[in-house]
Amino acid sequence: MDFPFEPYRIKVVERIHRVSREERAAHLERAGFNVFKVPSDAIYVDLLTDSGTSAMSDLQWGALMTGDEAYACSRSFADFESTIKDIFGYAHVIPTHQGRAAEGLLFSVMLKEGDVVPNNIHFDTTRANVEHVGATALDCVCDEGLDPTLEAPFKGNMSLAKLRRAFERYGRERIPLVMLTITNNSGGGQPVSLANVREVAAFCREMGVPLVFDACRFAENAWFIQQREAGCADKTILEICREMFALGEGCTMSAKKDALVNIGGFLCLNDPELAREVTNLLILREGFPTYGGLAGRDLAAVAQGLREVLDPDYLAYRIGQVARLGRRLDELGVPFLRPAGGHAIYLDARKALPHIPQEEFPAQVFTAALYLEGGVRAVEIGSLMFEHKDPETGRMVHPAMELVRLAVPRRVYTHTQLDYVAEICARVMELGKRLVGLEITYQPPALRHFTASLRPLGAAGLIREA
Ligand SMILES: *Cc1c(COP(=O)(O)O)cnc(C)c1O
Repeated sequence: MDFPFEPYRIKVVERIHRVSREERAAHLERAGFNVFKVPSDAIYVDLLTDSGTSAMSDLQWGALMTGDEAYACSRSFADFESTIKDIFGYAHVIPTHQGRAAEGLLFSVMLKEGDVVPNNIHFDTTRANVEHVGATALDCVCDEGLDPTLEAPFKGNMSLAKLRRAFERYGRERIPLVMLTITNNSGGGQPVSLANVREVAAFCREMGVPLVFDACRFAENAWFIQQREAGCADKTILEICREMFALGEGCTMSAKKDALVNIGGFLCLNDPELAREVTNLLILREGFPTYGGLAGRDLAAVAQGLREVLDPDYLAYRIGQVARLGRRLDELGVPFLRPAGGHAIYLDARKALPHIPQEEFPAQVFTAALYLEGGVRAVEIGSLMFEHKDPETGRMVHPAMELVRLAVPRRVYTHTQLDYVAEICARVMELGKRLVGLEITYQPPALRHFTASLRPLGAAGLIREA
């Protein structure tokens, strides 16, 4: 049996369309072969991101209606705060409109120019917010986490050796906090073990430096711990979460992930002084301390989503669905980063299209072809996103991997739709050498992958005649 059991039935549906191949070709042309610029109405299965794309439950939609919109001290904030304290256990809960706002507030208060922040792998907004205040974002993931073909249970773990080296090299004074991203999004959605959290926390305590979690996918991480870590099978998801968060001093959170809502975030802290400073900045930038840039109904939906995400049946379905997509791709011979992540599959475009050099954006070619062949939207995580000029040699440097991320929104697509995605991936593999590389015709100075335009290098378009 290969049917991750869906612990819900469908109450509301949203019509989507499969537009014709001619229309898709025209959309792709107009979008400059960049699927960020294709209208969502022209997409059949949208796996661009799992962020803010969850389907809310009947209870969450109900909470939107009963949300309390009082400016100060609303009932919905009380529910939000007590639910978060129950799971995360931190003394202070600060609502924000997104995860990056929580990061921005925390770093504005904790960091100064020249500081260094170690993390397993910084997510791009985290890195950008660290760098925004003139500090350095340092990635210390274990070596296993950098090998795309290795099957290992906890490839998100922090390397203690790399962390220790960072303290030796930069000195404790320049490291105001250590972060741990659970699951490790930029490293393939791989989990961090409880044992590793314990080790990192013990080291941080020894150094007198707080450990702060980037907790976006905390429930998915807890589920991996329950399934894979020795001695954890009998613990509940809530017990694992409490044990994990008790080892740190706070967390940043994007509610658009494991709080199962479309917008929202929060920051938790134990230190009362730090919490007061952050709250003062919050009032300036986001809003009063009991809403922080969100509506009362948003807070209510987050609180309900956090209760639902701890359901082991939900998590078994959620992570099972992503794993099942991985098994389909295996059967069809489509290569991807091992093992399947909690929220996404990362296809290996260098392996899939070895004839296209990195200068010609193989992962973007694969992404464009997925849309052209089947109306499937993925996202390129390769040279278009990460190619950069080496400051010393002035030469362009390509990233180690050319990946195509298939991020699965929570509770949104059926197994059938994901089977379809796997078939389209296989069809793109079959096109193989007929697919031609791309060149850039427009790029902005920063974060180019969002708005760049490209064109196929051959006269005949993306696919050469057989
Ligand atoms: C999404 C995400 C963020 C940023 O959250 P936003 O709500 O998009 O601002 C930070 N860290 C990780 C690991 C994420 O996945």
